[in-house]
Amino acid sequence: MEKIIDESKQGSALRTPTKIQNNRNLYIESYGCQMNFSDSEIVASITAQEGFNTTDQLENADLILVNTCSIREKAELTVRKRLEKFNAIKKERPNLKVGVLGCMAERLKHQFLEEEKIVDMVVGPDAYKDLPNLIQEIDEGRNAVNVILSKDETYGDVAPVRLNTNGVTAFVSITRGCDNMCTFCVVPFTRGRERSRDPQSIINEVNDLWDKGFKEVTLLGQNVDSYLWYGGGLKKDFGKASEMEQAMAVNFAQLLEKVALAQPKMRIRFSTSNPQDMTLDVIHTMAKFDNICNYIHLPVQSGSNRILKAMNRLHTREEYFELIDDIRKIIPDCGISQDMITGFPTENEEDHRDTLSLMEYVRYDYGFMFAYSERPGTLAERKLEDDVPQEIKKRRLAEIIDLQRQHSYERIKANLGKTQEVLIEGPSKKSDAHWMGRTSQNTVAVFPKEEFKIGDFVMVEMQDCTSATLLGKAVGYSTNN
Ligand code: SF4
Repeated sequence: MEKIIDESKQGSALRTPTKIQNNRNLYIESYGCQMNFSDSEIVASITAQEGFNTTDQLENADLILVNTCSIREKAELTVRKRLEKFNAIKKERPNLKVGVLGCMAERLKHQFLEEEKIVDMVVGPDAYKDLPNLIQEIDEGRNAVNVILSKDETYGDVAPVRLNTNGVTAFVSITRGCDNMCTFCVVPFTRGRERSRDPQSIINEVNDLWDKGFKEVTLLGQNVDSYLWYGGGLKKDFGKASEMEQAMAVNFAQLLEKVALAQPKMRIRFSTSNPQDMTLDVIHTMAKFDNICNYIHLPVQSGSNRILKAMNRLHTREEYFELIDDIRKIIPDCGISQDMITGFPTENEEDHRDTLSLMEYVRYDYGFMFAYSERPGTLAERKLEDDVPQEIKKRRLAEIIDLQRQHSYERIKANLGKTQEVLIEGPSKKSDAHWMGRTSQNTVAVFPKEEFKIGDFVMVEMQDCTSATLLGKAVGYSTNN
């Protein structure tokens, strides 16, 4: 096995793995949120230093890593099914090693080894830098587990190895963990307390991406609005920081401005926001910079104040409306999407109607809607009975999805006849003669390829649409191209 030579860059250096020779293959499968997919790129970078190439051919794998999600029961069942499949392969290839990463690994810890005999290694989201040691353990025939949650790990010094990339858009993680204790959510238990990444390390990664030809970054965190850099450490300890550290602190609006100024032609998106933490200066900063996209993913989860309280969402529906009004006043054409949970414990028809009426008020561009799935260890699981019958959950979910479909179609039709800037990300799934890309509002647009190419910013005249996609004709390059 060959040793790796580190080539450090200026500022808070990103360690870029340079391999002399690799002789083992890593096959990594990721599930769940964008944070997990971004973490898998960190894992690919760290394992590259241990002599692993990443492969997308399962049959060539020496090590299989599954980056798991625990947000709903279904997500965990999906992982268990995949492990069954790998079990069959391992029977033929006994030297094959299998590891589980991510939130389910953190939730189950050693129990995972007992429940899934095929698993050799269990690694939590904050322990990926320990992978070299853990891989050595399993190479020597022992099981390996590290699920320690960290107070300061942000992987800010690790340069991700881009996986399944289109070469145009990339994720850049800016915070880890979450301090909000929404009663239905496992994230605070599986990803720990909030800590933010050094702004210089973020800007270095964005500059590096621009140099490599990427044209859009999404700044990632479970709760980006809560970003606060004051020299490292947990957000909750900010009060203990020195006066100087507090005065020099960088919040999310300031970080957005720094990134926008660092690469004025790079499109900037961010996800995920939280209504209780979003501030007006974030919205004003979005309006101030053309390269910050006019789109906000703003989960609400319910439209009922009684249910919001039971979910420990620290805002009312009225406060949410105020935020929506402010967004629409400051950025009139802002695209807004939602997360919604239906059938939360004790939810009744009146609560459900409140959710529908909130959706009528906001008229979202699109959303991610799910029936409540009780998660072990959460406050809701410990304190509340999952008392809404499945068939009622299903019926309410169908009503919410149906209403969202109407609003999405209404929103998308409003673009017809307009000419909008689109960043070309790749060929359309449906036609090789067409490009697909997205508008600033995060709406997908498809149009004939003509002389344009991937990575171009083009102006597209929107001529028709489906319920989720704009169809148009490119009329020229954008001035941002
Ligand atoms: S804000 Fe709430 S729902 Fe989102 S990750 Fe944090 S605890 Fe979970």
